[in-house]
Amino acid sequence: QDGTGPVRTGPDGAVREAVAKGFEAVYGTTPQVVWQAPGRVNVIGEHTDYNDGFMLPIALPHATRLAAALREDGVLRLHSAQSPDGSGITELSLSDLVPGSVPGWAGYPAGVVWALRDAGHAVPGADLYFDSDVPVGAGLSSSAALECAVAAAYNDLCGLGLTPTRLALLSQHAENVFVGVPCGILDQLASSCCAEGAALFVDVRSIDPAEGRTRQVPLDLAGAGLVLLVIDTQVKHAHADGAYAERRRGCEKAAAILGLPALRDLALADLDAALDRLPDDGLRALVRHVVTEDARVEQVTALLDAGELRAIGPLLTEGHASMRDDYRISCTETDLAVDTAVAAGALGARMTGGGFGGSIIALVEKADAEAVAAAVADAFAAQGWTAPRAFTAVPSAGARRLA
Ligand code: ADP
Ligand code: MG
Repeated sequence: QDGTGPVRTGPDGAVREAVAKGFEAVYGTTPQVVWQAPGRVNVIGEHTDYNDGFMLPIALPHATRLAAALREDGVLRLHSAQSPDGSGITELSLSDLVPGSVPGWAGYPAGVVWALRDAGHAVPGADLYFDSDVPVGAGLSSSAALECAVAAAYNDLCGLGLTPTRLALLSQHAENVFVGVPCGILDQLASSCCAEGAALFVDVRSIDPAEGRTRQVPLDLAGAGLVLLVIDTQVKHAHADGAYAERRRGCEKAAAILGLPALRDLALADLDAALDRLPDDGLRALVRHVVTEDARVEQVTALLDAGELRAIGPLLTEGHASMRDDYRISCTETDLAVDTAVAAGALGARMTGGGFGGSIIALVEKADAEAVAAAVADAFAAQGWTAPRAFTAVPSAGARRLA
């Protein structure tokens, strides 16, 4: 590795050295620290975060690595080995950072520095060098990985003493306000707070782990002889942003009609009665997805607590049907991938992430993993579509410093 291409996973020391070399090649000095923040897949709990509900992500081994050194002159310099603008350095003045002022990828890291300062932390400028192997725009949260790496490195370099939960909130604030993407808290919490060998049960109403609701749920897939496959369809349909905003508004409208602070406040037992009080089938379908999805997150979590890993399979597949038929955020490609995986022997499968493409997950017996991935690849080839990319999702650690 020469520090100019993406740094693959390896022993911490080797990755740290490769990223530090990349920093030196760009800035001509040595970094003070190297941090990494991972991408994520959500096991279950889609479009529940902005309804104050539940979700269950794991962090991936794929991560955005960041080599960083503070500067004293009020300048922020950014370089990414994956930057679409090639080898260039984006140079910004801290005093000029205002929401919407930084176009393109640099807005994500610059937004975090802005969010820290906006929250009253008088952090200085820095030289930041990024190198990531999180697939970009694949529904695996490369944007949160970018943000959370910056938040964690600044927290360390400036001795801010902020918790991973607080760093996730600042990162979300950066994406919402500085970049202008109205995302929920799922991605940033996963990237900041996940632990190795566990899924993170999140209750959006109570994300501080000290309150005991949001917690690590042990998930030893390998020990159970299972594999969680991620299959990236490499498809991203363009109308995703508008559709997200529209569904979000629909959920808020339904909650208001029902007299609830959020759809999370509607119990599964009261769902049918509530649906009768809604004016149209569109709103009914949104509410049905959100309420049943929250219930599925709780059911999956209870099964994992009980060590019944295989039993979550049907709930994953049910979750996909709910996204396809009620929330209407799947697409031909993700539907085919899910159906093919299940037909080829997966215990369960579903689209993961915001929708309209991106990746699916499939829970499979270790012995079936290759056959399931091959079946999906064959089905895509038969349609003449771009080959999907499959890999194994090992529940990995959230943002951490590479020693
Ligand atoms: P996702 O988070 O699912 O990957 P998003 O659309 O939310 O998809 O974020 C993708 C955007 O994040 C990219 O278009 C790019 O601007 C930015 N990005 C993510 N990772 C990197 C990286 N390593 N280098 C440069 N930009 C990145
Ligand atoms: Mg994102």
